[in-house]
Amino acid sequence: MANKETGNEVRTGKYCTFCGRSEKDVNVLLEGMYGYICDECAERAGELVKEIKVQKEDEKFGSLKILKPKEITAFLDDYVIGQDDAKKYLSVAVYNHYKRVNDKIRQKKLGKGKTGEDSELEKSNILLVGPTGTGKTLLAKTIARMLNVPFAIVDATVLTEAGYVGEDVENILTRLLQEANYDVQAAQRGIIFIDEIDKIARKSDNPSITRDVSGEGVQQALLKLLEGGIVNVPPKGGRKHPEQNLVPIDTTDILFICGGAFEGIERKIAMRLNTRIIGYRASSSGRSEIDKDNLLKYVSPQDLRSFGLIPEIIGRLPIITYLHPLGRKALLNILTKPKNALIKQYVKLFSIDGITLTIDDDVLNFIVDTATAYKLGARGLRSICEAIMLDAMYDAPSSKSEELRITLPYAEKKVSQFTGTIINTIEK
Ligand code: ADP
Repeated sequence: MANKETGNEVRTGKYCTFCGRSEKDVNVLLEGMYGYICDECAERAGELVKEIKVQKEDEKFGSLKILKPKEITAFLDDYVIGQDDAKKYLSVAVYNHYKRVNDKIRQKKLGKGKTGEDSELEKSNILLVGPTGTGKTLLAKTIARMLNVPFAIVDATVLTEAGYVGEDVENILTRLLQEANYDVQAAQRGIIFIDEIDKIARKSDNPSITRDVSGEGVQQALLKLLEGGIVNVPPKGGRKHPEQNLVPIDTTDILFICGGAFEGIERKIAMRLNTRIIGYRASSSGRSEIDKDNLLKYVSPQDLRSFGLIPEIIGRLPIITYLHPLGRKALLNILTKPKNALIKQYVKLFSIDGITLTIDDDVLNFIVDTATAYKLGARGLRSICEAIMLDAMYDAPSSKSEELRITLPYAEKKVSQFTGTIINTIEK
């Protein structure tokens, strides 16, 4: 039947307001105040509502926005010079880790538990092997900043000093919890950088019968955190105290990045490679090309084991990568290239006072040469720059001059006044 005014068909009887099917074509037709909805549309609407809710929650505090591995590397490039291999490994590991975390959050929100079909992605903690001052901490810190997750740095050696191990590893998590402003959810997705993991290596290759408090014992205790599970954490740190309410923290989704210089591991790598090469040569006349100046890049779980890490710990650090020692060119780039490069920071500091700072190129070379000559590495760049800039930073704000140029003779003079003390203390 048609409406006389509009010409549209006027329907009679009951029908679904959403899909238009009539009562006889559907299983169930629910009646509302202004119309009807059929069972199929109601089900679909239910699913849609769930999805929209998830989206909204995602926007509020849900999944982390993760960049793709190449984008992560590009982000790292803004702050960390060189170390391309480490960046690549780290980017993939971080991408996979947070993809897995996000997927878990999603499944949970959609109310889907483990389906049984889903293959569970294993957590991939990372081990960075490389000389001190080459950017291990910086890489971890930059990743955390990119993801905007809580980040804590802890020194593995502190654990050995604690005496009785097993009680204090929890303090690592206390640190993260504090960084997360006691937001347990946020902490559970944070990143922990454990520095100097090599210092808790077992001293001898043979497992001792007595408990080795300074080595294997600490490793065993750390394992508890690395393998993922609920750990009861004293929120204020310190020893477990009966009066302190412990906070249960699930470490399953915390990403652990460990770093260590593993001094002397090159010998173990060389030994392993040599035995392989000899075996190889016996059956072939071809020479195997080994980059002898950079043996670290061949580091393998086997070497870590002979260095004194227990197999269980190695098993929990499936991603192993290495960092190069920094050469002259890298140091020069560190001074000027990163977004927050030292030189850029000085220029900014002076510009706030309305002073244009210029630093001659030969001054930059001189800073790098000094750092290299005294084996100070990247860490030394800052103290050398401070030595050069201190007087200028003291005087310039009170002077009328709007320009400041740092020349080589000026820099040499300033450094010679300071190097004695700086370098003597570092060399001892
Ligand atoms: P590590 O953890 O390997 O001992 P860090 O990451 O703490 O070394 O490096 C010390 C400092 O040296 C950093 O804060 C940074 O200023 C500088 N640095 C070291 N390596 C790099 C690098 N590859 N790129 C940029 N800066 C670096």
